[in-house]
Amino acid sequence: MTDFPPDPTLDPQNWPGFRRQAHRMLDDMIDYVAGIRERPVWQPIPSTVRDHFREAFPWSPAALEQVHGEFLDYVLPYAGGNVHPGFMGWVQGGGTPAGMLAEMLAGGLNANLGGRDQAPIEVERQIVAWMRELFEFPPEASGLFVTGTSMANLLAVLVARHSRLGPEARRSGIGAAGSQLRAYASQTAHGCVSQAMDLAGLGAASLRLIAADTRFRIEIPALRAAIARDRQEGLTPFLVVASAGTVDAGAVDDLDAIAALCRQEGLWFHIDGAYGALGMLSPAVAPRLKGITKADSIAFDFHKWGQVPYDAGFLLVRDGRQHYETFASPAAYLRRETRGLSAGSPWPCDFGPDLSRGFRALKTWFTLKVLGAQAIGASIARSCALAEYLQAQIEAEPALELLAGAQLNIVCFRYRASDPDRVNAAIVVDIQESGIAAPSTTSINGKLAIRAALFNHRTQKQDIDALLNAALRFGKDRQ
Ligand SMILES: *Cc1c(COP(=O)(O)O)cnc(C)c1O
Repeated sequence: MTDFPPDPTLDPQNWPGFRRQAHRMLDDMIDYVAGIRERPVWQPIPSTVRDHFREAFPWSPAALEQVHGEFLDYVLPYAGGNVHPGFMGWVQGGGTPAGMLAEMLAGGLNANLGGRDQAPIEVERQIVAWMRELFEFPPEASGLFVTGTSMANLLAVLVARHSRLGPEARRSGIGAAGSQLRAYASQTAHGCVSQAMDLAGLGAASLRLIAADTRFRIEIPALRAAIARDRQEGLTPFLVVASAGTVDAGAVDDLDAIAALCRQEGLWFHIDGAYGALGMLSPAVAPRLKGITKADSIAFDFHKWGQVPYDAGFLLVRDGRQHYETFASPAAYLRRETRGLSAGSPWPCDFGPDLSRGFRALKTWFTLKVLGAQAIGASIARSCALAEYLQAQIEAEPALELLAGAQLNIVCFRYRASDPDRVNAAIVVDIQESGIAAPSTTSINGKLAIRAALFNHRTQKQDIDALLNAALRFGKDRQ
């Protein structure tokens, strides 16, 4: 064995030096979050910075300190900005320092939550139990962490498909019966719902997009009529996807009415509650979600209104057996035992397509426990109050036009101009480039809107005022 390679591991050669550098990195990140308000929300990436990411493949080592320096210079200043209180674009959470630390702990533990008898899976099961409680689901309900609601909606469509077609479809494909399946969602539903139908092999066109009312909620009579029409044509309605918080306007479908309709028609009742579902944490917001507890499945994200660092999507399924039967696959190398490391079946890998899985549950567990669910609920309620404040300011300002009022925490508006779509698109980019705030755009009844989605728990009235002042100033400049 004289030629045996000398380096025994990839661990640091100098642990005390590593420790000192590690503490500096932690301090830097704490400073970053604590001082976030002093920074621009976002800034464009200079070409010199972009060029930095075209370097040669790193065959040789570099000091941790040096790579961290590159992170500080080339990555950190040019992030998307969602930690900042002025970030109001799209639907993104702000994260929390406690969640950040949990990410470090999870990285150190390097747990693989696909399965096996280990406490990290008990942490995930704890979250599942808490979510059962929050949504009043029965003890046999199952839950699973996934990347995000896009994935959770896909898994829900697969569970609903399985509940209708049975196990044979897993082996032979969806067949003729599967090609007859039809699902229903509002025109204002998130695009990932039709993508889920596509990925599930059912076809995006098999999702009927039903008209929405003036408050962007699915029209129940139109939904009922579409189901009847499909039945008349010999098709098989099987699923309704309701929205609890639409991306554009924060609309919540009439969940009670849809629950009743689904029961009557024998359809799977899934809710895309990507951000809205966690409104259940606030006594002020929960009543707007009435009926959510009647769903067959709910998809939502801890990383949006729940402020858990990315990513932390979640799927909750009332009938855990259906959920298990949709995904469980026997494999010799995943054999279960009643004792030893292979005990504790079923495992998370039996409830979804991922085998290797990170410890998303830990940052969620830390966030909920350290902050307390009540405080998260209060920040959810505050963001709704801020949206109402924003709406009132818009209504009081003749230069601005309200396009979608606050139903939860999203408000859409525009600057009055002769060429409003062009001017408002430019205003949004101007505001983003100014570093003052980061709204995004959407289309409301065919009109390009400035969309302020208030998800960041750090956002305050002064940030709303800054957004409005910027919109007015850039709007005037663009006239
Ligand atoms: C964000 C969002 C999604 C997608 O969730 P991801 O976590 O980004 O995959 C789906 N539906 C709604 C209503 C959303 O807000």
